[in-house]
Formats: sequence, structure tokens, C-alpha cells
Amino acid sequence: MLVNDIYMKLTFWGVRGSIPVPGESTVKFGGNTSCYSIETGKHFIILDAGSGIRNLGKEISRKVFIIFFSHLHHDHHQGLPFFKWMYSPDCLINMYSPLRMNRSLSSILKTELFDSPMFPVLLNDTKSKKIIEEVSTTESIRLLDIHTKKDLKAVFGKKWEEINEIYPSLENLHTKVHFSHPKLPKETAVVDVCENLSHPQNGTFFYKITEHKTGKKIVYATDTEPFKGGDFNLIKFSQGADILIHDSQFTEKQYYSRGFVVQGFGHSDYKSAVEVGFAAGVKNLVLTHFDPNNSDTVVEKMEKDAKAYAKELGAKLNVIAAREGTSLEI
Ligand SMILES: [Zn+2]
Ligand SMILES: [Zn+2]
Repeated sequence: MLVNDIYMKLTFWGVRGSIPVPGESTVKFGGNTSCYSIETGKHFIILDAGSGIRNLGKEISRKVFIIFFSHLHHDHHQGLPFFKWMYSPDCLINMYSPLRMNRSLSSILKTELFDSPMFPVLLNDTKSKKIIEEVSTTESIRLLDIHTKKDLKAVFGKKWEEINEIYPSLENLHTKVHFSHPKLPKETAVVDVCENLSHPQNGTFFYKITEHKTGKKIVYATDTEPFKGGDFNLIKFSQGADILIHDSQFTEKQYYSRGFVVQGFGHSDYKSAVEVGFAAGVKNLVLTHFDPNNSDTVVEKMEKDAKAYAKELGAKLNVIAAREGTSLEI
């Protein structure tokens, strides 16, 4: 539970891009793929389910988890079969993925991640309760505090019995609502989405989580490649955010390499991340999704260079490289 003046707690469980890279050269920043958690109010939000979600499951015990997927590349969902709460009958897992992927999350879970011959347990045999939904750019997701059946009825209307059947001892469930309803309990946070077209083949979604009482904001923008002049949509979306988590797969030299060409891979160098953070006036910029080939030494230098670049631009921007197992509280 969050105490005193802390309204949001962001924890890094997996900060590596593309593939897990355990070993001596990655112990400082970590080798697990994308997974972050945000605790706010009574809600526990997970951003992506890369291999880092395994440790999250070992350390955190909750009855309800809400997972947002930026997109469905392997490094963003590969940890889910090893997330222990998937197998708990006492747990409700709500999963949201972008509507625009050419295949739904539900189909990938049923026919790839939890299916024979790729995995020994079928999705239907995992014991947790699950709600799997797709979200579009025109929607916001309100995280509501629901404690009683009356709250539930007010939120879900006629569908409440169906939901109640899925999870009878329902607490703190969130829901996606498209309208304002006088009976709705107040949200503790709102999650907004923004489409990113710069990642092959189907793009990704950026997410913005806004805490209701204070207006504090965390933006998650992974797997994105810079546009000339900066990504105007992302700059607008993350304006004034307290924390911007931004892709920083490459050093500048790697991004501009004519040898192994990485342009078009859908990832950023640290300078582009700093430029977006500066233009958006964010308070803290967190670099992440490091290239699997980039050792701790490379990432450490990247962090130092990014801080220097922010200073050079005159940005009042606290820049850090995400370290697995650490947290930021705002
Ligand atoms: Zn990725
Ligand atoms: Zn990707």
C-alpha cells in the first residue's frame, strides 16, 4: 500500500528489449524483457508481460492485476506463462491489448502461448479468472473502486450478474466506460491510449496513467522510432508528465550505423528520447528497452551521455536509465 504523499509507485521488472539476456554483462540493469508495474490507489497495473513478470509474480501478491500490452511482440508477452497468478483460482487478471493488431491477444494466448505443442498448459486449464479485452485509441479506461454489489450493478448495468458469476468476491475491479454515469464510483486513475505507427508491423500503443486526485501522470512509450523534429503525437500525449518511460534501444552511433542498419526496426536512440522528454516538458525521463547487445558499461555510458545532452539542451529533466528491481515514487 502506498503511504504518506506517494500516489504512484513505478517499479521496473524487465527493461531489456527483444530477448532476455542473463549474464555477467547485464547484472546492473537487468536482462529480463519488458515489464513494469504501477501501483496507484488500490490498483496494481502491469505494463507488458515480458520475462520480468515472472519475478513480479514471485514478489507481489494481489487478487486483481490489470495488464496493458503495448503490442504483441514476443518480448512483451513471453513471461505470461510463467506468471504464477495465471494459475491461481483466487486471482482475476484483466488484460488489455491494442485493437489494431492483426491478431487478438485472446487468439495468441489460446493458440500460441498456452497451446500444444508450444506449451504444456492450455489457456482454459489455467485457473485464474480472466477478462481479455481490446482497447481502441478513442477509449479511456477508468480504474474504479468497486466494493459492493451495488457499485457493481451501477457500473455494469444488466451485465453485472455475469461479472459477479466470474468473480463473486469482487474487489476494486476496474472497467472500461464510454460514458459518464452519475452512479459510477469515482475513478482512482484513468488510462489513456495513443497510437504509435513507427513500429513494424502493426505499431504499438502508448499508455498514459493519470492519478485522479493529484493529476500525476506516467507515460509509457516503448518500441518507437523517432520522427524528424520529434514525434508530435507523443510530445502532445506526454505533455507535462511526471514520468516518461521511453524506448532507448540504441546509442547514437548504433542508430546511425551504415554497417548493421537498424533504421526501421522501430526503436530509438537515447538522444531522441531526451528530445521528446524536453519538448514535452516532462519531469523525469526513464530510458529503457535496451538492446540485448548493450552491456551494463554501454547502458551506463548512455545514461551519462543522455544527462549531458539534456543539460546541453537546457532541459530541466531528470534522466535515468531503468534498472531492474528498482522503483520511482511520485
Ligand atoms: Zn520490444
Ligand atoms: Zn516490438
